[in-house]
Amino acid sequence: MRSWQDECAIFGIWNHPEASRMVYLGLYALQHRGQEASGIVSLYEKMHLEHKGFGLVADVFQEEDLDRLKGTTAIGHNRYSTTGENQKFNIQPLKAVLFNGPVSLAHNGNIVNSHILRRELQAQGSIFQGTNDTEILLHLVSRNPSNDLIECLKAELPKLEGAYSMVMMSQTAMVGMRDPYGFRPLVLGKLKHDSGMSWVLASETCAFDLIGAEFVREIEPGEIFWCDENGAYTVNFAEKKTPRPCVFEYVYFARPDSRVFGKSVYEVRKELGRQLARENGVDADIVIPVPDSGVPAALGYSEASGIPFELGIIRNHYIGRTFIEPKQSIRSFGVKIKLNPQLAILKNKRVVVVDDSIVRGTTSKKIVGLIRQFGAKEVHMRIAAPPTISPCFYGVDTPKKNDLIAATTSLEEIREYIGADSLAYVSNEGLLKASQSETTKTFCDACFSETYPTPTYD
Ligand code: AMP
Repeated sequence: MRSWQDECAIFGIWNHPEASRMVYLGLYALQHRGQEASGIVSLYEKMHLEHKGFGLVADVFQEEDLDRLKGTTAIGHNRYSTTGENQKFNIQPLKAVLFNGPVSLAHNGNIVNSHILRRELQAQGSIFQGTNDTEILLHLVSRNPSNDLIECLKAELPKLEGAYSMVMMSQTAMVGMRDPYGFRPLVLGKLKHDSGMSWVLASETCAFDLIGAEFVREIEPGEIFWCDENGAYTVNFAEKKTPRPCVFEYVYFARPDSRVFGKSVYEVRKELGRQLARENGVDADIVIPVPDSGVPAALGYSEASGIPFELGIIRNHYIGRTFIEPKQSIRSFGVKIKLNPQLAILKNKRVVVVDDSIVRGTTSKKIVGLIRQFGAKEVHMRIAAPPTISPCFYGVDTPKKNDLIAATTSLEEIREYIGADSLAYVSNEGLLKASQSETTKTFCDACFSETYPTPTYD
């Protein structure tokens, strides 16, 4: 049994006169990591005040909500997908009252042994409020006999298997934690202001840029970072493992203007495009991206191949969750609402179209069809990642293996299905080479290799 947590965003700030507003801005910058629901909890006179709701950050929080979230420390969370159960309780940060007062917790990742731990805890009398895996840590900490929260975390975190970057807030402290493999990113920043200095924790550095915080370092795999009025310190709760940060953060998930795992996401994507051109060149007139996810890779492809870059498809950025469809059918209506090809650019051209990944194949099929409809002579699909052959168990929302087109279908069959003249992906080695940095040499690439760093309990 899986309890999908999916990709999410976490953010926390300690010691800021406008803490909840800073969290709001941080979550705003991290909206791409979660659009289903959002929540903020602030610490005010030893109480944890909360506001949570379904929807985008800008819709969930109004001015008066943030006014009510008083206090100088606050944490927040954006939740990604609707695949989990849609209960209000599952919106994070989760709140509990433990032995030494209230604790709130926000989690990005997926705990793979959660079903086992949950059953054990229930057998011992724990009553769970929701269905998400994050709540398990609160129960584990609550049952620990120590009266020292950091001792509890040191003892209980090693029981969790899988992916977790977390931000926690107690009655006195803000805490950041990252699993021993470091699957999901978690960065530490510093913000100087008139009333002193704040520590900031965030999923990605783009959140620091918005509030003017300075990047300090990543929270290390297996590290607990703790800050309170006595200062900041670090505790390691696990033995060093070979790090396995998620390479898919580079491929698709993280914002291109973030630095994660020691490298600029934009630079990695551009290099993947160059690598794609080196590995899979083709004679063509123009290179176009599938916007927005394919843009940096298409720029890299164009640079390495010398084929001019064009914006052959324009994306409408103002799409709501639903729209009223016409009664009469319009050809390719569904995809055209979001992506509109440009006739003047595509007509009679041999086109290389670059996207970051193919999952089920439906997007690529529609896009290739659309480009042809607009007069392209040839369409060559290039993917800036290897074939997606395995589901993620560490927090990225992917379909089951059977629904991944590359898991069940040959390259030639996929090419035929999507209707392209040629189709090629970046090799696994090419992806690794483009992603490696001074500090990070090894990754989790299970979605492309089927090699999982932990048991998956599927
Ligand atoms: P598909 O139509 O199922 O092949 O999906 C491929 C498209 O989905 C690509 O354009 C990707 O940019 C995008 N994509 C890939 N992985 C994810 C994900 N985990 N969540 C949302 N979109 C994704």
